Amino acid sequence: MKRVYMDANATTPLLPEVLEAMRPYWIERFGNASSIHLDGQQAHAAVDRARATMAEFFNCHDAEVVFNSGGTEGDNTAIFGLLRPGDHFITTSIEHSAILQAARRMELHGVETTFVAPQPSGLIDPADIERALRPETRLFSVMLANNETGVLQPAEEIGEIARAAGAFFHIDAVQGAGKVKFDVRRFGCHLLSVSAHKMHGPKGVGALFVRRGTPVESLLVGGSHERRRRAGTENVPGIVGLAKAAELAMHSLEDGVIKRVALLRDRLEAGILELPGTGVNGAWDGEKPVPRVANTTDIWFDQLEGEALVIALDLKGVAVSGGSACHSGATEPSHVLLAMGVDKNRARASLRFSLLKTATEADVDYVLEVVPEAVEHLRTLSRVAAGTLG
Ligand code: PLP
Repeated sequence: MKRVYMDANATTPLLPEVLEAMRPYWIERFGNASSIHLDGQQAHAAVDRARATMAEFFNCHDAEVVFNSGGTEGDNTAIFGLLRPGDHFITTSIEHSAILQAARRMELHGVETTFVAPQPSGLIDPADIERALRPETRLFSVMLANNETGVLQPAEEIGEIARAAGAFFHIDAVQGAGKVKFDVRRFGCHLLSVSAHKMHGPKGVGALFVRRGTPVESLLVGGSHERRRRAGTENVPGIVGLAKAAELAMHSLEDGVIKRVALLRDRLEAGILELPGTGVNGAWDGEKPVPRVANTTDIWFDQLEGEALVIALDLKGVAVSGGSACHSGATEPSHVLLAMGVDKNRARASLRFSLLKTATEADVDYVLEVVPEAVEHLRTLSRVAAGTLG
């Protein structure tokens, strides 16, 4: 059976070039980047080259790149590494749980958090961040792109508020990486997290931009790796893979690949919306479209259960997600959609379609063929169950 993977926001496969770039660093060039002999020097040089690529990706200095294990670690580091008892923290109610749960833990250590709610469009209004400010606000953390709706937040405006308030600003850019152009100077952030596996790189590796002079304490101790900002032997193949994925992502932003993905997503979305009782979560602000990453659409389907549709589509070879990947298996409706004011039933009846950058017209054709059948079948079943058929 044909399989179409439309769950890129959960994870992506390695591009062949990424695998090829990583391959030598497991076998021939397996050295420890901290060793002084030739094997160590080769590994160290590979990490240095990767650091230079990531610095280009972020638009920062090489010394401002810290390699780590991915988005969760970057998010946790910003919060645990900067906040101290008595500080106030501002974030949003639509963040990934790596931020939300870290904030909850800090509450036990005397840090109060304000969770700013989004507009019904999924956008955070910078004025709401400004209203949440207190004299003791030390850190803001706002995601660049939401993992469920793909809505892009006004990072620059929020960075400006942080600057005026003298607060630190962290951006969880895990879902923006490879989908929009980065510029940490333009964003005005002190910290920014990315994860390789969301942009066709390997799992378990990522990078944190740390602006020079930001007093973030290391989560892990035990070695002087990464200029004492992240202890632990460097994952050399992973770091090489991350940098290769970032290099390819920079090309994709320039060579029309991402524009092509946006057209495919728009065609998919328009095709699904032809079904009665459907709509998009977070695409519109009144009559105005809101900025979204190219690959994501989050669609509600009246009179059905999202999980049932995920399973029905999987049986037909289509992988999508209801809510974020981290919630799959749980029946709780998405906290992101609830925060946007979507009612519980509609939130439960919503699916996220997120396209790989290698998606094709044929993939979209196939999904547009199977979704209407699956939706009609499930709606008929639920009418039968409710005794309202015939
Ligand atoms: N932040 C966002 C917005 C995410 O979507 C994810 C993963 O789903 C993470 C952080 C966590 O990243 P990782 O899987 O690299 O730990």
